[in-house]
Amino acid sequence: MTKLSDLGPPITGKKHGEPVKDEREHFVKCPSCGQLVDFRDLRQVIWHEKPGHDPLEMNGDYLVDKPKAR
Ligand SMILES: [Zn+2]
Repeated sequence: MTKLSDLGPPITGKKHGEPVKDEREHFVKCPSCGQLVDFRDLRQVIWHEKPGHDPLEMNGDYLVDKPKAR
């Protein structure tokens, strides 16, 4: 299984339009493999566009707002 981190560092996109009201609006279920795709990360979007792909192994290298250091 391909790990998300195997695809390189996160490639972040910039949201156009209104900011989302709910974090869940960043995710769409892939119609091919059924995995949730974070549309803020171009790596995931490109992966899920490939015909016949398997779900990615999510190994912690995804975009999450990390708590700020104090
Ligand atoms: Zn998919």
